[in-house]
Amino acid sequence: MGILEVNGVGKNFGGLKALSNVNLSVKENTVHAIIGPNGAGKSTLLNCLVGKLIPDTGTVTFAGQSVLGRKPHQINQMGISRVFQTPEIFTHLTVMENVLIPCFARRDGSFRMHAFETVANEHDIVEQAEAMLKDVKMLDKRHMLAANLSRGDKRRLEMAMCLVQEPKLLLLDEPTAGMARADTNNTIDLLKEIKASRPITMAIIEHDMHVVFSLAERITVMAQGTPLVEDTPDNIKGHPKVREAYLGE
Ligand code: ADP
Ligand code: MG
Repeated sequence: MGILEVNGVGKNFGGLKALSNVNLSVKENTVHAIIGPNGAGKSTLLNCLVGKLIPDTGTVTFAGQSVLGRKPHQINQMGISRVFQTPEIFTHLTVMENVLIPCFARRDGSFRMHAFETVANEHDIVEQAEAMLKDVKMLDKRHMLAANLSRGDKRRLEMAMCLVQEPKLLLLDEPTAGMARADTNNTIDLLKEIKASRPITMAIIEHDMHVVFSLAERITVMAQGTPLVEDTPDNIKGHPKVREAYLGE
């Protein structure tokens, strides 16, 4: 049994079958990549995992509990966090203020944009936020406005905001899309560090095969709304069906 189990999931948009009979099992504490051509249904599948979409058929269970019928914030509380293609940070706040928001949200179960105004006597929360920033090597940038960060640092900040909630499963939808090579490599290193430093499972949708082969332990190839094959990176590289359907050979 994987920490995430998807069984027979289907999703239609009007007449379009975006997903049909998707089965996927993600083992705890592994990095599992989902690849496939544009329109294969990868993002739709991810949206079904976080409660943004409700599948028409099938089941999705996380750590033995069904996620179906739960709202996105409830699924988040179960331990699933999602990183977006464009980092979701508050650009008008400092790095530290950004990280304080999920710290307070986690403790109080509420969203406090004014967290930083009352933070002076909240030593435990400040320490937690600083430790997190140290983890992602951004403590020296804590007073910087998030808007002024490089693309790679914005990604780091977003990761910090996610990780401070201590997710069990991190979902990443094309985390390096649009990045220059240097920032892509930084992101690979960051994800490796995160993986090595705590028990965490990652499911990553990614176009860049360099990223996929640097990180993934298992790879599922999707085409036309359904998984075509699932295997180790080495086997995927040489798989004839994959070369045909995905690499266009
Ligand atoms: P991928 O992420 O693999 O590129 P998507 O999951 O985004 O693929 O899309 C799968 C298919 O579903 C595509 O044909 C896409 O156009 C369609 N689709 C995705 N989201 C919607 C939506 N909200 N409404 C209608 N069609 C959609
Ligand atoms: Mg997509």
